[in-house]
Amino acid sequence: MYFDNPLIEYLHEYLWRTLLVFILLVVPIEMIIHELGHFYFQRKYGIRVLFFKIGIFNIVKWGHKSGTDFILGVPLLKAESRGLGEVGDKKISDPESFYYAHRHPKERFVVAVAGVMATLLVMTACLIVYIVAQKNFGFPESILINLIFMLVAANEIINLFVPFKLPWKGGSIPNDAFVAIESLWHWYKFNKK
Ligand SMILES: [Zn+2]
Repeated sequence: MYFDNPLIEYLHEYLWRTLLVFILLVVPIEMIIHELGHFYFQRKYGIRVLFFKIGIFNIVKWGHKSGTDFILGVPLLKAESRGLGEVGDKKISDPESFYYAHRHPKERFVVAVAGVMATLLVMTACLIVYIVAQKNFGFPESILINLIFMLVAANEIINLFVPFKLPWKGGSIPNDAFVAIESLWHWYKFNKK
């Protein structure tokens, strides 16, 4: 089939290949960088991280440091840096918990947005290298690479701006946008006091 628009033509022919590369190769790397962003600020603010996990299922626990289990699963769809008290119990009063009553909402806000910021930072660096390689070293422009950049950016921006909660064992888990907006609201109320 022939299409006038090279992008449409590409999508028609290589959509599945692009999605496979994205899901199997790019998303796992994206998630590791994203979770490292959360992890860095959780530790910086003295929040105890129960586990740092890549992927679904638990295949191997390859480390344990400062109260954190480092777990590798099947590197697909999911990664998590789980702070103490982050899921479920908001009334937890352990000073190392994410929802510690006196933890400044600014800290929760920074932890919530750090994942997206880390990924966008690394993505921008890769984009600069890609553009410089094209301009100076004759690296060919690739629709595949262009699309991957767009998918990563879209994925992260939705994560930052579209708040929602996922059902979880009788409760729910807020996404990054939800925690960011909630903590901004708490921050505003905190300052009004
Ligand atoms: Zn996140």
